[in-house]
Amino acid sequence: MSPLCWEEDVNLREYNTFNVDSIARYLVRIRSIHDLKDLLASPRFRDFRHLVIGGGSNILFAAENFDGVILKNEICGIEVVSENENNTVLRVGGGVEWMSLVTYCIDHDLGGLENLSLIPGTVGAAPIQNIGAYGAELSDVMLSVEVCNLETGETRTMSKDECALKYHDSIFKHALKYAFISSVTIRVSKAQFHCLNTQYSSVQDVLQQQGVVTPTIRSVSQAICLLRRRKLPDPKILGNAGSFFKNATCDTLLCKSIMKAHPEIPSFPGPDSFHIIPAAWLIENCGWKGKQIGEVGVSPSHALVLVNYGGARGREIVLLADSIIKDVQAKLGFQLIPEVNIIR
Ligand SMILES: Cc1cc2nc3c(=O)[nH]c(=O)nc-3n(C[C@H](O)[C@H](O)[C@H](O)COP(=O)(O)OP(=O)(O)OC[C@H]3O[C@@H](n4cnc5c(N)ncnc54)[C@H](O)[C@@H]3O)c2cc1C
Repeated sequence: MSPLCWEEDVNLREYNTFNVDSIARYLVRIRSIHDLKDLLASPRFRDFRHLVIGGGSNILFAAENFDGVILKNEICGIEVVSENENNTVLRVGGGVEWMSLVTYCIDHDLGGLENLSLIPGTVGAAPIQNIGAYGAELSDVMLSVEVCNLETGETRTMSKDECALKYHDSIFKHALKYAFISSVTIRVSKAQFHCLNTQYSSVQDVLQQQGVVTPTIRSVSQAICLLRRRKLPDPKILGNAGSFFKNATCDTLLCKSIMKAHPEIPSFPGPDSFHIIPAAWLIENCGWKGKQIGEVGVSPSHALVLVNYGGARGREIVLLADSIIKDVQAKLGFQLIPEVNIIR
């Protein structure tokens, strides 16, 4: 086994989909649990702050330097743990690209991930915000995760319930912030027992346009890839991190008082008698969609997506986000909260 390599003064530009420069003091690639144990035993590790990254598709480096250690999760492997007539249980290395796992499932006629096609990033990051799209989320298939607590060094298996997966949320954003997810175990269905989820009308429309009479796991995945390519800028061409803000929520009382002043604002019932207000609507209606300031802007095709048009710095993107937050608050009374992890 080769010793750990501490790469020094690494520009993180190629490790974040916003494509912003930020120089990390150290970067260490973690390819096994053994690497992780070695790292934790190193006195140097304890002297610095640290950050785990996967594909960097939900991170914004706000500062030009990160004076700490970046743990880049590169643990690979997809292993069949068990299977029966109905389903297959897979244990997947945290460093596996999410879309590679989706492709593996499609190629093996396994259903459950097709609606999550083309979400960028790694498997190890997927539980952090319980990734979701087109009526599906990771929690539909996840069974457990292998986690190392980076403060205590304790490694253990956590069940799905312990991870407290909610809408774009989990325990890893709160009580277990300093964790390293080394693998994720999921249960996916054999095609003949799988119930496809095509409830979104946009998915149904694409399937119809493509002449698909009997949808399959693969054709649903293809429809979703097409929809996503139409709507979201490709980070390889235009730096971005997908939706920058969470949808706004408010309790019935606040919602009623804001609606009195702005009856045009759409709202949907959310959990615990809260109301969900689409953040994209708020941003668009405050006139930000398509706006460009220097090298940063709001995507013309999706008001929730902030983009780097070229050489933007992280702090310029943060400034744009702050201006949007202030403007939406002043004009419509809602407090937008970033979904992207801002690293200062
Ligand atoms: C174009 C685009 C579209 C997107 N669409 C969606 C979408 O439809 N639905 C959705 O839910 N998300 C979406 N996202 C957001 C993003 O893809 C997901 O949040 C993804 O799970 C991030 O994975 P990552 O490996 O890039 O994580 P990173 O950006 O590297 O990290 C994100 C967070 O997770 C932590 N982290 C990463 N790996 C680990 C690990 N192994 N253990 C512990 N902590 C870790 C990091 O410290 C950080 O806090 C989109 C992003 C982009 C750019």
